[in-house]
Amino acid sequence: MLRLLLTSLTVFLLSACQSYPPSSTTERGEIPSARIKNTILLIGDGMGPAQFGLLETYARRAPNSLYGDRPTAVSQLMQRGKTLLSDTGPHNALVVDSACSATQLAIGEAAGSEMIGLNAKGDRVETVLQQAKRLGKATGLVSDTRITHATPASFAAHQTHRRFENEIAADLLTSGVDVMLSGGLRYFLPDNATAITAEQRQAITGANLPLSSKRTDQRNLLSEAQQQGYQLAFDRRQLNNAKQLPLLGLFASSAMPDALAEKAMAQRTQPSLKEMTEAALNLLSQHEQGFFLMVEGGQIDWAGHNNDAGSLLHELLRFDEAIQVVVDWAAQRDDTLVILTADHETGGFGFSYSAADLPSPQMLPGLAFAGQEFAPNFNFGELSLLDKLYNQKQNFYGIWAQASRNGAANKPTPASLVDAVNHNMDFHITEEQAQRILHRSPNRFYHKGHSYLGAEEFPHVHDFAAFYVYGDDVHLNLLARELATQQNVVWSTGTHTASPVPVVISGPPATLQQFQGFTSHVAVGRQLKSLINTD
Ligand code: MG
Ligand code: ZN
Repeated sequence: MLRLLLTSLTVFLLSACQSYPPSSTTERGEIPSARIKNTILLIGDGMGPAQFGLLETYARRAPNSLYGDRPTAVSQLMQRGKTLLSDTGPHNALVVDSACSATQLAIGEAAGSEMIGLNAKGDRVETVLQQAKRLGKATGLVSDTRITHATPASFAAHQTHRRFENEIAADLLTSGVDVMLSGGLRYFLPDNATAITAEQRQAITGANLPLSSKRTDQRNLLSEAQQQGYQLAFDRRQLNNAKQLPLLGLFASSAMPDALAEKAMAQRTQPSLKEMTEAALNLLSQHEQGFFLMVEGGQIDWAGHNNDAGSLLHELLRFDEAIQVVVDWAAQRDDTLVILTADHETGGFGFSYSAADLPSPQMLPGLAFAGQEFAPNFNFGELSLLDKLYNQKQNFYGIWAQASRNGAANKPTPASLVDAVNHNMDFHITEEQAQRILHRSPNRFYHKGHSYLGAEEFPHVHDFAAFYVYGDDVHLNLLARELATQQNVVWSTGTHTASPVPVVISGPPATLQQFQGFTSHVAVGRQLKSLINTD
């Protein structure tokens, strides 16, 4: 299996040709310049090689693929540049979390687990974004999660732990990031709602957002941002009206909607990831000295944690739409470096062949099969599964919420869970399966006061239980187990794996030369910083 994966990965890497248009200086025969004006870093959170594969396989091989004959934006970028594999591991450990991984990309030094913008010793290190800002460039962070979440935070904040989101919000303003578009309003609002100005209140409630706060102090970071010159936006319309930097757009109290929820909305007030990326590029590209922009497809990881394959596909599709905006914008430029990578793989996702539902033998026209049937030993997975995954209507969180609403005491019953699953997916479960999904037992990894492991009872996982850490959400992993046979999908964990991740680099040829071989995120971060320095 591993050998198979590596072989197909090699073919895939070799087939990515390097056809970036030569810069004018190399055409004149001069020494190629490594000057780059703009840097765009695209991070698919949890988008390991198998997740890249799901997007490509869907696009190319789903019987009703949305793409038709069109390549994905990811593969267009690969066609234009080069693709490496990268080790994402933290200092002195094997498996990385999003904070540490983004920090290593941002600072170009090894960092410890769950740290934000600090090196392994615990010292603050200037990030590539802060460096770009110091050198006179404009800077931007875009995410479909929330702006204080680990990935965006690591580019403009310095905190000992990713959970300090109130402090991160303040750091983001201190760094003066010129455009920030995401969720996370509750970390910018004061604890006491009376400290919110009438004008702010009108804009926030006009965008249908709550005034609730997660802060424990009276700081009104919206007012502080306005004093620094920021325009504020809380919905799509307000974003469209924003015509200059700096801009702070907070479009959700906490996380932005997931891709399936967004798709189901009749009247969408939040901008999509694609629209936020367009808005950021429009504003940043007006800045004469160039810019640094990080765009995150952040909920790929959340689908991975829940082992939710249909939602994973939709999060990948949403990210690919945003990548297309960047690919189109950068197409005719020779002064822009575009890097697409993941911070790590999530879930240990893979299609797998099985003993269930063996295909019926077939007659083939080929001469070698004369008098014999084509009858492989196992079920290698029908391509129609890709369309069935696409047809999922809500993510697992949404399905669980629906089952809870229709259950008893706001919890799912076996019957309400069967109903919610079977109405939202092309894959169906029975009441017996629902009972297994709902089964709970004492938490074998109980840790008093721990934010996740402090619960005395956990959903019951009978094997690899130590790798399902997120409390009641583990019911969703159990749902995935029950769907696995029908989906030809297996997952190896509810957390992250240490699989190396692709790094796709497109830009002026002289800059591409610097990225070689099996690399690491620390090295990529260091190279990013050195390229911005040479401008
Ligand atoms: Mg993230
Ligand atoms: Zn994660």
